[in-house]
Amino acid sequence: MDHFHYRNGQLMAENVPLSQIAAKVGTPVYIYSTATLKRHLRIFSEAFEGLDALVCFAVKANSNQAVLRTLAREGAGADVVSLGELKRALQAGIPADKIVFAGVGKTRDEMAAALTAGIKQFNAESEAELETLNEVAGKLGKIAPVSVRVNPDVDAKTHAKISTGKSENKFGIAWQKAEAVYHRIGELANLRAVGVDLHIGSQLTDLTPFKEAFERVVGLVRELREKGHNIQHIDLGGGLGIPYDPTAETPPPPTAYGAMIREVMGDMDCSIILEPGRLIAGNAGLLLTEMLYEKQGENRTFYILDAAMNDLSRPAMYDAFHAIVPVAEPVENASTLKADFVGPVCESSDVFAKERPTTPMKAGDLVAIKSAGAYGAVMASTYNSRPLVPEVLVDGDRFAVIRKRQSLEELLALDTIPSWLSDD
Ligand SMILES: *Cc1c(COP(=O)(O)O)cnc(C)c1O
Repeated sequence: MDHFHYRNGQLMAENVPLSQIAAKVGTPVYIYSTATLKRHLRIFSEAFEGLDALVCFAVKANSNQAVLRTLAREGAGADVVSLGELKRALQAGIPADKIVFAGVGKTRDEMAAALTAGIKQFNAESEAELETLNEVAGKLGKIAPVSVRVNPDVDAKTHAKISTGKSENKFGIAWQKAEAVYHRIGELANLRAVGVDLHIGSQLTDLTPFKEAFERVVGLVRELREKGHNIQHIDLGGGLGIPYDPTAETPPPPTAYGAMIREVMGDMDCSIILEPGRLIAGNAGLLLTEMLYEKQGENRTFYILDAAMNDLSRPAMYDAFHAIVPVAEPVENASTLKADFVGPVCESSDVFAKERPTTPMKAGDLVAIKSAGAYGAVMASTYNSRPLVPEVLVDGDRFAVIRKRQSLEELLALDTIPSWLSDD
């Protein structure tokens, strides 16, 4: 459930008409709902009530510091994958001891900064990384808390580009090798193994792959403990899917996910870490855009929007479905047609929806691309020299720009002309 709904014929974000935001900030613009962010975090967290659970929001889904601060105030930790994300999380007020650091290519600088900040744990993805982390920690006179990300080799049955738990993926260490790796950690003076970690993919709409993977990892933790490793927690990753297309997908609710985890964990005396990203932010945001033109192709109607694949790349990258709705509520029994919603970028993949049933729209209409709060603004680029679009946070009756629109001057000023090409 989200807080974007029609009232008096107008699509609202909480109590703010989207048309009001468009008039003030322009389009395209990302708009997030505070109430929805909080609600998703609360419902997710409640699914683990009674368990010793830490919810670390996956910052890569939406790294705006106002979003992070909203979640931090509700008690969320953070799962970060770069120094930039670590800094964002800390600056937004997420305590270091609630931050976990993932990623297959952490640099020495990133390790040093995270050690200095005193993060909860590193989720290590290779033996080489562990050796480097041991060195960096040694130089700083610190002990690095580590979990090894194991690859449980299960098929997440999601889009290939967001599947991470198969042996062919670059992520984690084969779970059969895990014991040897923990043994090695025991030999390294500046590392301390504190947990086991996994993350098998994103937008999972079935609990079965999760369950299979979690059972493997619980088995592994038992073995590791028998070998004398003091494993205190299991980081179960993120990945629970959301209904982008409520008519097509019915992902399990967080309560079912929580119940399954309770069952798999059984009487393991172990705390858990969860890393939801999409589930918290996805349906808490939309991309507001204006229709520029209608164009009749042969047997097709194109609705050309002022937003493009550089602003929201999920459809081009993952064939993702996003609901697209007019800001002015369609009248009852309005006629429908099929249209292709496209952007202005010079790529055939710049398509938000093909042959999408819709009520008629016309140039100048405001159009909302829904479920764009996760993996939206964070993945934007300036392709075609299109400036990064702004982000707005709504809270009840009020709204604020939480990232201003990049100006063309700012965009162009990033280039420099070398002396030998200089005109003077
Ligand atoms: C991307 C990612 C997540 C978040 O995934 P969602 O599908 O957004 O919940 C969590 N953990 C890791 C390690 C990730 O790479």
